[in-house]
Amino acid sequence: MAKCVMVLYPDPVDGYPSKYARDNIPVIQRYPDGSTVPTPSNIDFTPGHLLGCVSGALGLRKLFEDAGHQLVVTSDKDGSDSEFERELVDAHIVISQPFWPAYLTKERIAKAPNLRLALTAGIGSDHVDLEAAKKHGITVVEVTYSNSISVAEHAVMQILNLVRNFVPSHRWSTEGGWNIADCVERAYDLEGMDVGVIAAGRIGRAVLRRLAPFDVNLHYTDTHRLPLQVEKELNVTFHAGVESLVRSVDVVSIHSPLYEATRQMFNERLLGTMRRGSYIVNTARGEETVPEAIAAALRSGQLAGYAGDVWYPQPPPVEHPWRTMPNNAMTPHVSGTTLSAQARYAAGTREILESWFAAKPILQEYLIVEGGQLAGTGALSYQK
Ligand code: NAD
Repeated sequence: MAKCVMVLYPDPVDGYPSKYARDNIPVIQRYPDGSTVPTPSNIDFTPGHLLGCVSGALGLRKLFEDAGHQLVVTSDKDGSDSEFERELVDAHIVISQPFWPAYLTKERIAKAPNLRLALTAGIGSDHVDLEAAKKHGITVVEVTYSNSISVAEHAVMQILNLVRNFVPSHRWSTEGGWNIADCVERAYDLEGMDVGVIAAGRIGRAVLRRLAPFDVNLHYTDTHRLPLQVEKELNVTFHAGVESLVRSVDVVSIHSPLYEATRQMFNERLLGTMRRGSYIVNTARGEETVPEAIAAALRSGQLAGYAGDVWYPQPPPVEHPWRTMPNNAMTPHVSGTTLSAQARYAAGTREILESWFAAKPILQEYLIVEGGQLAGTGALSYQK
């Protein structure tokens, strides 16, 4: 019998929903690269229902019960007295989501001698200390591609939000005003601007594809250059590094994984090299920036706007500088957990667990760490 601790975000404040805004979600069969979406043997949930919170339990309660495994589902994840830390000591599997990350630090890993599998129900496993996982023989996996398009849509939305000054204009309308000049004194068209993405992986490429019809000049940087025919098709200019990219654009969208090479990348120095009045959208990870430097650049006008959904830590304290900095269009970490995305990553989580319990190999695309080293997607994404 295995013990699994699943850490999920709390239910809605007014309770688990009994009805939804829509009756169903579109059926997506393939990802943009042609690979199939997750194909577990069965699912015990309704696609389009809320699965990522504690009561939703990723639709996996029955799977664990039927197989006689123990499942603990909690949102109490921080501090040494949290339910997560108490239950971790004899757990074999931890399932967590980047939106409400159960930080698996090296100290916590040292306290969990039975832990063999750390499964990210989503994408981005930086909340797991990957070095400690390698050392302790823990397999780290995530549901690659499950929410890439969800995040790309959010990034494009936030770029438009900032450039067109949407949030303050919306506020004027809900507060009873009709203050056209106040709304438009910071509003521009995106058309004709230089827009760059940092990392043209699954999300970054989807952002480029979605932005191409806006008649902008596209730029990107990545440690792995795209095939020339893709660059041509998207009409996108490659930059060998972040420094060259940020000097050449008006809008930056960040899509790189968080590791040593990207930690605190957007610091005071790099921000100072950008065009005055640049916009940054960050749906990658909050720690790829220095939060105080972002807030200072917004106050000085070096940045015209900052948006995104990723913070550190999560949830952030009420006094986090991003909650009150000017010209921000931040949301909590939600871009990758739409109801549409949840159906895919819940199915992918089940697919991985079915392989794990049957001692079958896990798809290379899902692997981050295996056998004491970076593997599969992890080997491509988490090293230079
Ligand atoms: P991916 O593995 O498809 O792409 C990552 C890309 O980053 C690769 O092309 C890789 O070559 C490139 N890269 C690695 N190091 C780099 C560096 N130092 N500079 C430039 N490029 C570099 O991953 P993806 O699905 O596109 O996801 C990217 C990241 O987005 C994830 O690691 C995660 O942190 C974040 N994410 C956020 C959400 C959300 O809800 N906000 C959801 C999913 C993923």
